[in-house]
Amino acid sequence: MSKVKDKSDGVSVFIVGAGPGDPGLLTLKAAECLKKADVVVYDRLVSDDILDMVPASAEKIFAGKAARDHFMPQDEINQTLVDLARLDKTVVRLKGGDPFIFGRGSEEAMFLAEHNVNFEIVPGITASAGCGAYAGIPLTHRGYVTGVRFVTGHCREGQHLDLNWKSMADPNTTLVIYMGLINVQKISDELIKAGLPGDMPAAGIERGTTPDQRTILTTLKDLPACIDRADLKAPSLLIIGKVVDLASTIAWHTPAHECLLEEDV
Ligand code: SAH
Repeated sequence: MSKVKDKSDGVSVFIVGAGPGDPGLLTLKAAECLKKADVVVYDRLVSDDILDMVPASAEKIFAGKAARDHFMPQDEINQTLVDLARLDKTVVRLKGGDPFIFGRGSEEAMFLAEHNVNFEIVPGITASAGCGAYAGIPLTHRGYVTGVRFVTGHCREGQHLDLNWKSMADPNTTLVIYMGLINVQKISDELIKAGLPGDMPAAGIERGTTPDQRTILTTLKDLPACIDRADLKAPSLLIIGKVVDLASTIAWHTPAHECLLEEDV
């Protein structure tokens, strides 16, 4: 493993991916950074088990955001990182999943770069890789799909979801939708309107890779009703595509539940 740099190398901020929840999915480099931290600025998505790994001597600052309730606006997070670095602290900016996948890690890195603060980026296991693996849903599978696409199901505050549905409605591409719960009805309707079959397999995975993981298996058409019935809450990931079928055979972490609506029975 390459040596994790520190203040003596002039690096004071580490933007670290914590993975989707299971502490076993932290990288060795992430664990090393936590050990060296003077301050850890962490998000809501970082699991308690991972926070327990932060040394007692390190200060912990919560910068989490709950939907529509911003505890610390992004500008303030950026400025906090710069201020702490200037106090000569070793700062770990700990984010759920991977910092560069719907994680705003690059916005923070740009701000640090503009303020001449040296940083490193430590990638993490993104929710799609973690949830796919733990739910028994391979994101690609030979003979099923030729690619995978990561999409956000949520837009900036106040804007409505305006995706290129036509380009997404490809039966040979797995769609993984982050932050898709609120707009799941629209996502399902628009994809069907754009040509994806209503019976395309679909899954919702809540709190993937944690002991509380729940996986529901259904179809694109029934996904909104099934999510509603199972009362899936954030963080949940949606996976749409033929690969979802494999979960009924290779789910291993927690059981995958088929959602049967009355009209289908
Ligand atoms: N940077 C993160 C994503 C942040 S966006 C990453 O790479 O994973 C937040 C969204 O990620 C959530 O709304 C949810 O869709 C997804 N997510 C993150 N952790 C998850 C988990 N443990 N289980 C299910 N979905 C998760």
